[in-house]
Amino acid sequence: MERTIDAAAVIIVGQATMTKNSIGDPGVKTPSGQVFRGRAIRDQQRQILRRALAAIGHPQGSGPLACVFDLDSTLLDNRPRQARIVREFAEAAGQTRLRDCTPERIVSWDLRDTARLCGYSADEAESIYPAFKEFWRSRFFTSDYCADDAPIAGAGEFLKAVLGAGGRIIYVTGRHVGMGEGTVESFRRAGFPLPHWPLGPGQPVSAETVQLWLKPDPAGDDDLWKETCHAALAEARGIAAAFDNEPTHVNAYKRRFADAAVIHLDTDHSGRAVPVLESIPSIIDFSLET
Ligand SMILES: [Mg+2]
Repeated sequence: MERTIDAAAVIIVGQATMTKNSIGDPGVKTPSGQVFRGRAIRDQQRQILRRALAAIGHPQGSGPLACVFDLDSTLLDNRPRQARIVREFAEAAGQTRLRDCTPERIVSWDLRDTARLCGYSADEAESIYPAFKEFWRSRFFTSDYCADDAPIAGAGEFLKAVLGAGGRIIYVTGRHVGMGEGTVESFRRAGFPLPHWPLGPGQPVSAETVQLWLKPDPAGDDDLWKETCHAALAEARGIAAAFDNEPTHVNAYKRRFADAAVIHLDTDHSGRAVPVLESIPSIIDFSLET
């Protein structure tokens, strides 16, 4: 049986999923019925991450060098950004029950889940949803707000381990180029290796060791952009490893780069009912400690 998140238990559940996931953990269920974090097995994480580092070839020899990382819900936790927007909506719209929203009350990409966890009934959550979503939409995809993102546990250390093993880091994200400054600001605070940007499709091919690929068109389709990036990556020297939380995207990496260490982040996703391919292992975060 899944654990259901409710207002009283959310903080405990939120922390527990980051530390206690293990064999047989069925994941957590949000008020709207989505289930997350039921796939990764904590005890296997260290081995999965070490295999990814071992897939990196020698810089002067043969073998693939590039490790590709998605950002949202892969290297970065967006919940501080989301919670700030919720609190600002509370002030702007007089929705006092949302005023003290913490990151732990962000449990999915459905703002109605957050409203429910802040004490709204399902009907009340539904009635404020259109204005809530619009308020969120006009802020979430901006440089100012994305600077609030926090690192996923162990991400900074793992990225440094990639460089230490002679690998290259390519951050491949659906974020548009206008979010670049805030993205790099969050990298700086998180201690991530800082990239050259904007690079990727539409820009001259680069041999920089750390690159940030941003979507040129804010209105562009994320799936299409990732496919374009995958095609560009296929022309590079080779992909050692790829990490993404979105099942559609991580599956596409595996289909195109069958020999790479393709790894799913079992954090959250857009809610589309797409199963992760059987051959792809999942991790909860980048912590090498078990
Ligand atoms: Mg993502």
